[in-house]
Amino acid sequence: MNYYNENTVIWLNGSIVKASEAKIDLYSQTMHYGFGVFEGIRSYKTHSGETRIFKAEEHFTRLQRSAETLSMPYPFSKDELIEATYKVLELNGQQDAYIRPLVYAPANMSFAKNTESNLAILTWEMAPFLGEKLLKVMSSSYQRPNPKGFHIQAKAVGHYVNSLLASYEAKSKGYDEALLSDINGFLAEAPGANLFFEKDGTLFTPATGNILPGITRATVMEICEEMKVPVVEKQCTFEELADADAAFFCGTAAEVVGWESIDSKPLRKAWNDTISRQIQLAYKDRVTEKTAELTTI
Ligand code: PMP
Repeated sequence: MNYYNENTVIWLNGSIVKASEAKIDLYSQTMHYGFGVFEGIRSYKTHSGETRIFKAEEHFTRLQRSAETLSMPYPFSKDELIEATYKVLELNGQQDAYIRPLVYAPANMSFAKNTESNLAILTWEMAPFLGEKLLKVMSSSYQRPNPKGFHIQAKAVGHYVNSLLASYEAKSKGYDEALLSDINGFLAEAPGANLFFEKDGTLFTPATGNILPGITRATVMEICEEMKVPVVEKQCTFEELADADAAFFCGTAAEVVGWESIDSKPLRKAWNDTISRQIQLAYKDRVTEKTAELTTI
């Protein structure tokens, strides 16, 4: 996949520059130690034809919180960054896009705090994923990082070594994606998405503490509230999951994507007959600003 061409622009520290001409400093803690933070955001072409960044405020608030959690200087304002993102999308002629703001460290190879940060906003085309293909999920041999060793609620660059290891493992074994446990063996999340499962009309999701609390997860909960579907946040076990009617991952990139099986064992119900499927459809309408009557279950 080509992320950019010679015409693509990015926003870098307040200026619009060509992606092909932007330089990063090799002497940065981000390159060597994974010390940086980022966001994953999507924009959509709405039903009225406009470009809309979904939950822009929430994503840029989380970016700031992630940077502050890691003591990275953050001299950027949310409004400035949202405006900059719309500008980059417009200049690149993109509507259905993935947006990747990255806060990275300047040249400093010591273990001392930095006095400045860099911020880049990259965008690339990403067509809406229709979520029709159900996933074959594998319970990973990797656990999510220990929350006593990492600020797991921050979207830090280095955490994604764990994500890539788990995803590589699952794919090398013929599965579509991994499901990781927390350090106590309870269900946690996917390498880049949260998880819900459905049982007898109720949705269950791992409680916060060992996961990245996703913005899509929060959106799913909003939808459930409107649909009057009960949601339980708790420590969930693999045994409970094995007995579930349906399950799905949710995240900005993944959107809402249903599962076919966990460890080759199919979920109990046909995906199209589940509440989870109704939530998937409602999510799609929400991001594209299609006003649809929500079904009350
Ligand atoms: N967990 C992890 C580890 C992630 O990387 C992501 C993607 N940001 C999520 C969950 C889902 O978060 P969101 O819905 O905010 O994209």
